[in-house]
Amino acid sequence: MESKPTTPADAAQIQAALTDPRRLAAVRDTGLLDTPPEEVFDRLTRLAAKLTGAPVTFVSLLDADRDFYKSAYGLGTTRQLSGRTFCHYPLVSGQALILEDVTQLPVFRDVPTVNSLGIRAYAGIPLRTESGEVLGSFCAVDFKPKQWTEQDVEIISELAHSAMREIRLRMALQDASALNQQLQAQIQKVDALNRALSEMATTDALTGVANRRAFDHSLQLELAIVERRGTPLSLLMLDVDHFKRINDTYGHEAGDKVLVAIAQLLGGCARVIDVVARVGGEEFAVILPNTDAGGAHEVAERMRSAVARSNWLGQPTTVSIGAATLHDKEDAASLYARADAALYAAKTAGRDRVAMA
Ligand code: GH3
Ligand code: MG
Ligand code: MG
Repeated sequence: MESKPTTPADAAQIQAALTDPRRLAAVRDTGLLDTPPEEVFDRLTRLAAKLTGAPVTFVSLLDADRDFYKSAYGLGTTRQLSGRTFCHYPLVSGQALILEDVTQLPVFRDVPTVNSLGIRAYAGIPLRTESGEVLGSFCAVDFKPKQWTEQDVEIISELAHSAMREIRLRMALQDASALNQQLQAQIQKVDALNRALSEMATTDALTGVANRRAFDHSLQLELAIVERRGTPLSLLMLDVDHFKRINDTYGHEAGDKVLVAIAQLLGGCARVIDVVARVGGEEFAVILPNTDAGGAHEVAERMRSAVARSNWLGQPTTVSIGAATLHDKEDAASLYARADAALYAAKTAGRDRVAMA
């Protein structure tokens, strides 16, 4: 099989890839450049040669201006090469390069190793880090044209994986303790972030009750329960009356305190299964599972009078409440809209009151 790029990289692309600072840092981080041959890597290249029948196999690491061979089978004493090599093409494409006869394409015919080493067939698999940097390649070459089989390519790919695994293992061991320390610090940070995120995702930062997102989620959940069990469900929409005046008279901070106090009061009037949420600036919603219209009115009235009896600012604060009870086959948006319309009716009727949808 062959797998050659339709438009092979040009010299400028190759130069850019070779000298890319992040990639070079990754290559140098392996700690393998200019190190002597080692049995773990030699075993892989030997195996590649034996299984594919290729006379030469190697693991190349691409430095800025040379290819260093951590392991080379059948290449004599050659440990590195300068100048253009076939390994530069998988570096740019990030893909396997499988050539049955390199002399068939001018761009590959001109690679110096065709003359200097007599290379005619090439199969190279990029060695890629988890972050996507190509360190080099695992290659097999032949001095005569070679029809690489699918199995040849699979074998070389598997061995490339093994080489990469070995490289990763080395790097991990190299600075195991430093890594461990960093890891612990990272884990702690991620933990804290996760906790903050999941709280932020479901609770309102000011009042600590459910936020809009959690409200929507809970309402969908309750609708699903209604569908299964046929239990009633009601929704209250509350809006603080003349809240703008409170802000204007006592300041925004005092307004915030009132919102927190109202949220607490509402929570106190609700059952454990009810969901109190802040759905807007000075708007709250309460989901009342297993509650019919009569029950909803009762809870709404309890909440309204609890707020009206309050005296946070030396004067009563009041809320208007709209209540709606789910109709058969009604969806969340419609229930919400009816409760909201009832709230509007309570406002126009004079505020500090409960209106039923
Ligand atoms: P109505 O009785 O018709 O509801 O009158 P209102 O003044 O409450 O209504 P309006 O919608 O005109 O004003 C709501 C005010 O709520 C305006 C806005 O500045 C204030 N507000 C919204 N979010 C917050 C908040 O988080 N903190 C404070 N302190 N005020 C807020
Ligand atoms: Mg409002
Ligand atoms: Mg208001």
